[in-house]
Amino acid sequence: MTRLTFLGTGTSQGVPIIGCRCAVCQSTDPRDKRFRSSALVQMDGLTIAVDAGPDFRSQMLAQGVRHLDAILLTHNHKDHTGGLDDVRALNYIDRKAAEIYCEERVLETLRSDYAYAFAEHKYPGAPEWHIHLIDERPFRVDSLEGTGDLEWVHDIGYFYRQADGSLLPSDNAVAEAPHERPNVIPIRGLHGQMPVLGFRFGNIAYITDMSAIPEKEFAKLQGLEHLTLNTVSYHPHHSHFSLEEALRLAERIGASHTWLTHLSHAFPSYRQFCSELPPTVQPAWDGLTISD
Ligand SMILES: [Zn+2]
Ligand SMILES: [Zn+2]
Ligand SMILES: [Zn+2]
Repeated sequence: MTRLTFLGTGTSQGVPIIGCRCAVCQSTDPRDKRFRSSALVQMDGLTIAVDAGPDFRSQMLAQGVRHLDAILLTHNHKDHTGGLDDVRALNYIDRKAAEIYCEERVLETLRSDYAYAFAEHKYPGAPEWHIHLIDERPFRVDSLEGTGDLEWVHDIGYFYRQADGSLLPSDNAVAEAPHERPNVIPIRGLHGQMPVLGFRFGNIAYITDMSAIPEKEFAKLQGLEHLTLNTVSYHPHHSHFSLEEALRLAERIGASHTWLTHLSHAFPSYRQFCSELPPTVQPAWDGLTISD
């Protein structure tokens, strides 16, 4: 069984937006409080986060997460990568680097946004990431296994303990993603002009920050129990599906349930929004868990 918990369902500024006095931003319904979009997937004994935005720390605390086998990144926007520094806490518990799966273009952005995490001589306590490069090909996430245990050597930094007992300075090594026995199916989409990825786990597909899906990708979206789609507005948007586009896609893909995410205060509060949608489509909310 695959389970997906929505850690955040809000647009890039979250809901409420700082300083906004609109009815949605002032709603007292907890389902109108939306962290930046992210999800936690549990399958085959693995715990996987999709994206790690600026609310990552609060999201990990809210779900009581103490361990992640992988963090998959959909694309390089800050509302999806801004929390990656906070994997430090998990580095410490796991005594290993965090296993991060992303495309080459996302890695390039991480190298400039987080230069200190890639520095040759990192300061003690800098985040430890082990990057796996992925593309549109299905790939496999395994439970944590690494290059030895990550050990904190006081005042010096993290080192990998080798089989012979020696210590090797840690590094943000880049590895090719293993494509044998895949358990994650990437779905290519476009976010405006930018190529991005969604992911299918079992019969659950998680798509965020897309405004178009190439025709050939629809074969990967058949037989779904749950589909997640992003929308930010009733009106056409340059890089996200409008509500109308999302509803049309939901109908075409035909999952038993479609959940809307990356929602903004342009939509009404949760209860009213539900009443405007067809029976198989609902707004997701932070903390909602679905399973296939
Ligand atoms: Zn976003
Ligand atoms: Zn507002
Ligand atoms: Zn984006």
